[in-house]
Amino acid sequence: MSLKRAQELPDAGIITEAGNAVDFKTGDWRTYVPQFHEENCIHCMFCWIYCPDSAIDVDTSGDKPQMKGILLDHCKGCGICATECPPAAKGKAALVMVREEK
Ligand code: SF4
Ligand code: SF4
Repeated sequence: MSLKRAQELPDAGIITEAGNAVDFKTGDWRTYVPQFHEENCIHCMFCWIYCPDSAIDVDTSGDKPQMKGILLDHCKGCGICATECPPAAKGKAALVMVREEK
């Protein structure tokens, strides 16, 4: 990816097209990464709703959507998914943030 000069960027880094997160690979920003523990997942899709980077992989082939894992090219490690994931409140986290080894 070639870097743009400051003069080529929109004022204040404003995003001029909505819904374009998939065009940008934000995975290399990360320090922490979510680990998915499928055995604890209740497929509530809160992680998909709250993820700001469309980084939740969902299987929509059945009657109900199923959480499949994290799209690491797009996850920037913010941890919102792990904070909002309900099973953690019962001591069985389905998403756990861990420091990523690079
Ligand atoms: S928020 Fe947690 S329980 Fe809900 S779908 Fe995502 S990983 Fe599964
Ligand atoms: S940490 Fe979770 S909420 Fe944040 S970008 Fe990655 S998958 Fe999305």
